[in-house]
Amino acid sequence: MRKSTFALFAASLFQMGCTTTATTTDTQTGATAMQAQEAKQPPSSTDALAPRLSGNPRTLDMFKKGYEGCYDRASESYAFVVDSHNHFRPFGGNAIPLYQMSDYLRRLGVLFVNIYGIGQTLPIDSGCEYYLDCQGTDVIPTIKNDFRNASNVLEYEPEGVHMTLSMSFPNLAKPALVEPQIKLLDREYPKQFKWMGEVNLVKQALFGNNHKATTEAQIGQWGPFMKILEERKIPIAIHSDLGCSEKVNEDDFECGAGERTKYLHLMDKVLELYGDTNKIVWVHMGLSKELTDIPPAEHIDILKERLDKYPNLNLDITWGVIWDYYFSDSIKRPDYVNFLNEYSTRILPGTDFVALHTKDYLSYAKEVQKTSQINLYLDDNAFRNIALGENYFRLFDDMGDLGDMSAYTAPKICEVPAN
Ligand SMILES: [Zn+2]
Repeated sequence: MRKSTFALFAASLFQMGCTTTATTTDTQTGATAMQAQEAKQPPSSTDALAPRLSGNPRTLDMFKKGYEGCYDRASESYAFVVDSHNHFRPFGGNAIPLYQMSDYLRRLGVLFVNIYGIGQTLPIDSGCEYYLDCQGTDVIPTIKNDFRNASNVLEYEPEGVHMTLSMSFPNLAKPALVEPQIKLLDREYPKQFKWMGEVNLVKQALFGNNHKATTEAQIGQWGPFMKILEERKIPIAIHSDLGCSEKVNEDDFECGAGERTKYLHLMDKVLELYGDTNKIVWVHMGLSKELTDIPPAEHIDILKERLDKYPNLNLDITWGVIWDYYFSDSIKRPDYVNFLNEYSTRILPGTDFVALHTKDYLSYAKEVQKTSQINLYLDDNAFRNIALGENYFRLFDDMGDLGDMSAYTAPKICEVPAN
């Protein structure tokens, strides 16, 4: 067991320094009004963090079954306790060391995390760190990420944070390779991987790097590896863009009119073939930088129809892009808040952080802050299910000895006394 004593010491100093300011947001006026007020003026990227995010650190004990306390939304962090979508490996270049990421997570009270590699990596001899800076360079899924993440977790064994390793290697367009690679990880790291993703069914942002949409015929060949996931009850998190915005400027992504749902048929094929048997997480609700103008009602109808039809389908609402283009918009937001409250048992939160070495604690904290702001608008039931991790814990319930979340549950929310 190793950890950075200095990092822990620094973290506790930081927390001590902020504790006194944390209570200044206490109020008898009710969490929702106060929190919504705070969210109306979202801090800009250069502003400091809201003190409540790191000033009153949560611990794993608060999420253990038998914990007697309640969660006070008025004074405690509004950040999610689960980051279900965090890439510990970058597209290229070096990563933030795992012990440092553990420290960032603890300081922010993000106590449960899925460790994703990255579905598409840039070649190590290309010198590239970000795919959009290296258009024309192929991005290729590789199992190297998963080996490095597993090796790091076993070497550093983080304390105070619960980490779940995810298989990020599958190339969905080459399904025959997936089963043998699962077996390879089984041999080298037995029972360590409890999630699969993020895998790219179709990701338009990567088209410039020779990524192509997976075809329906290829989806039809996923049977052998989806069977393994089904038997182990392992969720698969799939990036599948819905489509693209209408082209307005010359610089916009190449897209015609009426193509906002041009790729929906691919996700539908996945659901038709595997939606009854497998736990599927549709990441970013199908949204992306390439689709910034779908009307909320149209988008939500698409989601509801599929959630109603496939009880094993979940959505992840990760990525700052969703806040920027949808949730931050006071016209669009109410529809989404109603939807998240109504379907609150089917939603997973997180950042979609990419742990490139040039980033630091503040980079991650700001992404947590941005992607958590929607939590301020949720009702108590949805806040508990989504932000406090109840949905995430429940996903592991039927995994037998592979699941290790049985000790955890979300605390109940404190009742706000009536005036
Ligand atoms: Zn991602």
